[in-house]
Amino acid sequence: LGVVVLAGGTGGAKLAAGMQGIAGEDLTVIGNTADDVELLGVHVSPDPDLITYWLAGLIDEERGWGLRGDTFTVFEELVRFGAPAWFALSDRDLATCLYRAHFLAEGGRPTDAQAQIARALGVTARVLPMSDEPVRTNVVTAAGRRPLQEFLIVDGGAGPVEGVEVQGIEAARPTAEVTDALAGAEAIVIGPSNPVISIGPILAVPGMREAISASRAPVVAVSPFIGGRSVKGPSEVFMAAIGAPTSAAGIGQVYAGLLDGIVHDPGDPGPAPDGIEVLVCETLMDTPESRTEVAGRTLEFARELAGAG
Ligand code: GDP
Repeated sequence: LGVVVLAGGTGGAKLAAGMQGIAGEDLTVIGNTADDVELLGVHVSPDPDLITYWLAGLIDEERGWGLRGDTFTVFEELVRFGAPAWFALSDRDLATCLYRAHFLAEGGRPTDAQAQIARALGVTARVLPMSDEPVRTNVVTAAGRRPLQEFLIVDGGAGPVEGVEVQGIEAARPTAEVTDALAGAEAIVIGPSNPVISIGPILAVPGMREAISASRAPVVAVSPFIGGRSVKGPSEVFMAAIGAPTSAAGIGQVYAGLLDGIVHDPGDPGPAPDGIEVLVCETLMDTPESRTEVAGRTLEFARELAGAG
């Protein structure tokens, strides 16, 4: 029986790294592909790749993205020629994205490209794109529509945000790999990622919520908010855009109808989420030990809920 983690790039990926130490090959991570972007002639899939780098132990933890100790030789040369410089890719990261572009151009599926990349980097857990169809998030601001990566990097993720549009979502479907993993799961964990732009698109794939609900596994979310604040990144402006507070109650609101339990930190501003079981524990995952601890407590909590249900 497997453990399934839904994840964006940072919070969810860190939890997945902790979970890998417990579940090993029985771990499946479903990653958001709505922030994929095509540039510099390659196909960048930031969330599935960050997850893969975290699981492979290759992530540049300090920077929060890319591969530790990598160089930027090719990127710097491209910029010298006049290529856009706003999205930096280090050499090995660029190779990942070039390989993916090649694989897709040959008619391959994103799911298979990611599996190849993960296997080559020594990852035995599964990293699954949420769907094989192209899906893209646009951020609606007073200045108009912005593709997500441009909003995050060029505009610095500065709000206010009026809303989010997920282009192509109606035509997307969970892959067979995703539905199989959910159906066979012992526990389904929604990682502490941005609820609106990282987890939102995964849950918006038609059939995804149904596949999660149909599974017999307990569904537990780990809140990305500590003391009512985002640890890193602009989750707050996106919660504001949908009128939800940055607290466990807000998480309960965003994932309404899906959750059996929520894990949140002792400094959550409250009130308690409505009608959902709660586990209060430290959720900051800034060391390997804390990642293992949060993953272990979450899994134990899910097993208790399964026993009770
Ligand atoms: P992105 O795709 O890289 O922006 O990252 P995600 O959407 O996966 O994660 C962003 C969220 O992760 C933010 O809301 C953070 O508060 C949350 N986060 C990052 N690190 C931690 C952590 O150690 N613990 C918890 N609970 N949340 C975290």
